[in-house]
Amino acid sequence: MSSSTTAPIATPQRVSATRSLLLQLTSGAALGLVVLYGVAFAESPIAHNAAHDVRHVTVKPCH
Ligand SMILES: [Zn+2]
Repeated sequence: MSSSTTAPIATPQRVSATRSLLLQLTSGAALGLVVLYGVAFAESPIAHNAAHDVRHVTVKPCH
């Protein structure tokens, strides 16, 4: 009689896929922060004002 479980088994493929997904999510978050702070402290007033306008359009708290 074989026992079957419904719990996921941590196969090497699943561990690798999970690490890949976490790497992608972390990379995406890091890129987002770089873009966000890069634009927020941009010397270019056009980029800064565009980001500011997006902030108002999306009803985020501002000044
Ligand atoms: Zn504002």
